[in-house]
Amino acid sequence: MAEVGNELQRHAAEEHQAQTDGFHLVIDALKLNGIENIYGLPGIPVTDLARLAQANGMRVISFRHEQNAGNAAAIAGFLTQKPGVCLTVSAPGFLNGLTALAHATTNCFPMILISGSSEREIVDLQQGDYEEMDQLAIARPHAKAAFRVLHAEDIGVGIARAIRAAVSGRPGGVYLDLPAKLLGQSMEAEKGRKSLIKVVDPAPRQLPAPDSVDRAVALLKNAKRPLILLGKGAAYARAEADIRTLVEKTGIPYLPMSMAKGLLPDTHPQSASAARSYVLAEADVVLLVGARLNWLLSHGKGKTWGKPKQFIQIDIAATEMDSNVAIAAPVVGDIGSCVSAILDKVGNDFAKPGAEWLNAVADRRDTNLAKMAETLAKSRDVSPMNFHGALNVLKDVVKANPGISFVNEGANTLDYARAVIDMYEPRKRLDVGTWGVMGVGMGYAVAAAVETNKPVLALCGDSAFGFSGMEVETICRYNLPVCIVIFNNNGVYKGIDVNPTGGKDPAVTTFVPGARYDKMMEAFGGVGRNVTTPAELEAAVNEALRSGKPTLVNAVIDPAAGTESGRLTNLNPQSSAKK
Ligand code: ADP
Repeated sequence: MAEVGNELQRHAAEEHQAQTDGFHLVIDALKLNGIENIYGLPGIPVTDLARLAQANGMRVISFRHEQNAGNAAAIAGFLTQKPGVCLTVSAPGFLNGLTALAHATTNCFPMILISGSSEREIVDLQQGDYEEMDQLAIARPHAKAAFRVLHAEDIGVGIARAIRAAVSGRPGGVYLDLPAKLLGQSMEAEKGRKSLIKVVDPAPRQLPAPDSVDRAVALLKNAKRPLILLGKGAAYARAEADIRTLVEKTGIPYLPMSMAKGLLPDTHPQSASAARSYVLAEADVVLLVGARLNWLLSHGKGKTWGKPKQFIQIDIAATEMDSNVAIAAPVVGDIGSCVSAILDKVGNDFAKPGAEWLNAVADRRDTNLAKMAETLAKSRDVSPMNFHGALNVLKDVVKANPGISFVNEGANTLDYARAVIDMYEPRKRLDVGTWGVMGVGMGYAVAAAVETNKPVLALCGDSAFGFSGMEVETICRYNLPVCIVIFNNNGVYKGIDVNPTGGKDPAVTTFVPGARYDKMMEAFGGVGRNVTTPAELEAAVNEALRSGKPTLVNAVIDPAAGTESGRLTNLNPQSSAKK
């Protein structure tokens, strides 16, 4: 008995003396909160943090550039409702990650950018440290919140605050500054364990006020030409089941924004996607569900919106209301709670919209769908291959594989693909988002593969791919089931511009003609394919999806195909004037 007692005492004493440090506390705090993956780029002072995270069972995906790691973390947040974590070194690494942090904040994706930083004392006195920078001050305007932790015992609080700030209310990007000194600080293991916080209910439901729901339903009931507009906030909120019930119960036509495609299958009979201009101009009451009236919706005014209308807006951010035009019926709360409250009030006796409206929408839609089918059929045998010839094939690939993630970036490659490729499941279309930014492609592709464990098809314009192309090495290194298709027309928009001076430099919008991007993938052990016809494209992509091997398909598109700035000529005044 006495021996056992001594043994216990010795054990207790050992435990008492056991130490932990900043590195382990950061990892333990993340794991305690269910964060399993880190996207980042190791280096001073976070190399050991990345190593130890891996050693302690986290999945650490090391990228070639922090911006791509940040974009991966941002979309991981969108896909999982947990903050995606990006880890970078100080100053330049931090700045490289900052674009992605701002992107996450703008798109309302939860993300935490964790950057190592140099000695506070030296930074604050501007004495010139290795990679010296006041990172916290720089991050603040680009993030929803920004924190710095100076003492190991505060790591638990710092991470809890970062998680809560990222996912509660309107989600966004959070910056967490971890000075090098902090990571090396040690403290008693037991004290450290007790200092960690498991965040309870990080994104609490926010119920809408009952009178706001009554106001919204009254407006909807009196509408003659109602429209439901779904945004990526609804996709993030995972509210697809109730949204489908609402759409079907009310019989109202709906329009998905691009990343809301697939919330209901694009082939749903009430989808008004193919009658977009018509319904936006003609509707008299529009219910916005997790979509902002920003530039993507012409700010809710002007010719696009035609006839006068009233808006009902569901959003978790009260300050979003009236941001561009008056909102007649704001419903502030989380989308799940708001839609279910509206459903309750709508009841079973909701009078569906009149036949005049529904027939007019259906006529437009069917006419436009027939036109599109004709364009696609005509382009099947066009040589050299054009955008529609290639997209016709990918449309069928996605239809046959509705569970894959479809990443899409570019100008023409984005615009045409959005219109042609139907989505069937929620959160499968991942694209350039609120900024219309290029360069998200490979970061998104990596994170989609890691988070969903399913294949990814990434369709990029040759210009867009250039921003993150080096990550093909990352895709090969982690052996991810990613098939990249590059629509290669030798340039930005198209590849036939000439230098107006007749000088030796190429035109500013052109690339090396006939470039073989597929060789990049081969350089790292992946599969490269060069295709010039829709049939070859189809075979290459299907083989990639079957094999699950990292694949890059260089799809040669007619260099003369493509229009300036996609459809955004209004944002490119000089080129519009030129035309
Ligand atoms: P889109 O680009 O598809 O139109 P936006 O990014 O403009 O979509 O709008 C998304 C909106 O959704 C944002 O205003 C955001 O506040 C809101 N949102 C995000 N998550 C939720 C949620 N869980 N509940 C309610 N609103 C949300």
